[in-house]
Parts: sequence; structure tokens; C-alpha cells
Amino acid sequence: MEPQNEVITTDVLIIGAGPVGLFAAFEAGVIGLSCQIVDGLDRIGGQCIELYPDKPIYDIPAIPSCTARELVDRLMEQIRPFDVPIHLSQRVMSVEQREDHRWTVRTEHGMRFDVAAILIAAGNGAFVPQRLQVPEAAALEDRSVHYSVARLADFENRDVLVAGGGDSALDWALALKNVAKKLTLVHRRNGFSAAANSVVAMKRAVEAGEMDFVVGMIDSLDAHDGALRSVRIKHVDGTTDIVADKLVALYGLVADLGPIAEWNLDVRGGRIEVDTSNYESSRAGIFAVGDIAQYPNKQKLILSGFHEASLALRKAYSYAYPDKKRVHIHSSYDAKLAERVQSGAA
Ligand SMILES: Cc1cc2nc3c(=O)[nH]c(=O)nc-3n(C[C@H](O)[C@H](O)[C@H](O)COP(=O)(O)OP(=O)(O)OC[C@H]3O[C@@H](n4cnc5c(N)ncnc54)[C@H](O)[C@@H]3O)c2cc1C
Repeated sequence: MEPQNEVITTDVLIIGAGPVGLFAAFEAGVIGLSCQIVDGLDRIGGQCIELYPDKPIYDIPAIPSCTARELVDRLMEQIRPFDVPIHLSQRVMSVEQREDHRWTVRTEHGMRFDVAAILIAAGNGAFVPQRLQVPEAAALEDRSVHYSVARLADFENRDVLVAGGGDSALDWALALKNVAKKLTLVHRRNGFSAAANSVVAMKRAVEAGEMDFVVGMIDSLDAHDGALRSVRIKHVDGTTDIVADKLVALYGLVADLGPIAEWNLDVRGGRIEVDTSNYESSRAGIFAVGDIAQYPNKQKLILSGFHEASLALRKAYSYAYPDKKRVHIHSSYDAKLAERVQSGAA
């Protein structure tokens, strides 16, 4: 986790390390703005990595075909010369404009940024885990009910129930069975969306008696003194109570505009309204680009987001350096940029 007390001063804070946020960091570097990126997830890449890493993309200019993961790798390579700090697992929460017109931005885990402009490249919003839909779950969260596994040691010698049928659920069930007293995987059907080799490994582990597999849905949780004791599973034949003191629900991620919805920006249909001459929102100094931006005929395409970021940052420059006139230079004639790219470092 990042240090919590230090205030980080930079020209632009980019919210979102999806393809558009990453390209924005390159554009910022090209026009002479310092920037830092924050993302609520623990890895970069946004939808490209979360939703379709191995699918081919065909409509990135001058790249006839690459997978979504390759695109993210290439973007990272492109921004490497600018040495842009990327802070992960830092969902942005609040924003406040000070009297000197600069902004203070705070994240969920206590990071603070002092910036001249904010570029929101938050896609569909922050990805958050899909939570259990049983009323007892909220009070047990973190102590007995989990939506991710931070440390295997927390599950050592415990009765663990993992719920879900995707890659995360199967991968974590296979890892947790090695430390748990007992591991039960629960999924609503006997078919999985996880990789075929994980399904084979899970079935082998069940046959070998290393873990149990139950088809059904979580119906209710039984807890005592704030600690989980058992989980009631509903299935075609009725219900079964499974002893468990740890429940890990891995049902995938859902996108949520979350705290950005409270920033007094004009928002329509969960997206931020912008002026298409510079992709500035209704609050001067806050820009929205990529999938989160809303304007007539908006296309949710990566290339549209690249263009939007490029124009937004040119306006952001005037907030960071109000007394300087920015001179446009084509990258092919930019000697400083050429030197930086060739040396590969900032
Ligand atoms: C299956 C699929 C296939 C696609 N194929 C194509 C294609 O072929 N060509 C194409 O052009 N487009 C394609 N798209 C669309 C493309 O992926 C999106 O347009 C693109 O990802 C938008 O990029 P972005 O950076 O704006 O947002 P995202 O990729 O959504 O990234 C946003 C990031 O912001 C972070 N974030 C959100 N809120 C916060 C917060 N409060 N604090 C911190 N971080 C936050 C999120 O965690 C996320 O990492 C496809 C989409 C899907 C789902």
C-alpha cells in the first residue's frame, strides 16, 4: 500500500488505467505535463484486461490485429519513457477545489493528490465485486465474508466455502484447499466458465477427496457473535447446511460510477457530459474521456478515447501553466521527445 500522509503534487491526475488513461499519460508527457495515474483495481488495463484479454482487436490505427492484452502491453511500452507513477488499488473518492483553483483528490486508502486538472478515464466506473444478495452478508464482510483473497494465511485451518464458477472461484478454491481444514466449492450449476484446465484440476481434487463440490445457491448465513458458523445452500432437493467460518464469494466484478457520481458534474445515464471542443465536464478543470464521456454520437471505442484525451490535455495545460503559451510541435519534429523515447527513460 502507498504511503498515506504525503501529498503528491503533479499537473494532472488521470483516474483510470484502462487503455484511454494509459494513452493519456503518453499525451501528457508529449505536451510537457507531469501526471500520475490511479486505478481502483490491482492491475492495469481496464476492460481490456478484465473482460477480454485474449480477444483480438482489429480497429486500432496502424495495428491490424492484436489482443487486448497486447494493446495494453504496447501502451505501457509507449509511456515507459515518461516514467509515470501508477497507483493501483486506489479508488478515487472525493475531489475538492481550493481557493488557488487547484484540486485536492483523495482515494479510498488515504492517498492525496494536489493537481491543476483531473482527467477522468474511468470507463464504466470502478469495478467492484458483485456482492452476496443475502441480508446477513454485509455485517460479516471482512471478518467472515470475503470478495477477494488477500492472504492465504487468513484461511489456514478454517472451514472455507468458495462460491462461484469462474476463473477466480476455481483458482482460489484450488489454492485454498491446500491451507484450509475443509474446502467446499458451491456453484449454481454443474458447468463452469473457468478455463478448461482449472475445471479438470478441480474435478480431480474432488475425486481425490481434497475438496467438496456442491451444486446450489447460497440461501442464508448463520452467524454468532459476528462470526460465520454455517451457510445454508438451496438446491433442487431442498437445503443443506454447510459448516463454514470463512466464505469467499467470487461472482465477478460489476462496474459502478460510485463516488464520482457525487462530484457535482453533469451526468446523464451514468456518464459525464462533456464539451466536445476539449472534453471538459461541467466543472472547469475536470475532464472526462473514454467510455465515461457522454456527448452526441459518442462511440465507445478505444480510438475515440485516444482523441478525446489528446484534446482534453491541451486544455488542461492552460490550467497547469496559465502564463505559458504551448507551442505545437509534431512528434516527428520533437527533438526532446525523440531523445526521451530513444533513451527509454524520463
Ligand atoms: C468484450 C469487449 C470487446 C471490445 N472490443 C473492442 C474493440 O475491438 N475495439 C474498441 O475500440 N473497443 C472495444 N471494446 C470497448 C473498449 O474496451 C472500451 O471502449 C475501452 O476499454 C474504454 O477504455 P477506458 O480507458 O475509457 O475505460 P476502461 O477500459 O473501462 O478503464 C477504466 C478504468 O478506470 C478505473 N476506475 C473507474 N472508476 C475509478 C475510480 N473511482 N477510481 C479509480 N479508478 C477507477 C477502472 O477500474 C478501470 O480500470 C470492447 C469492449 C468489450 C467489453
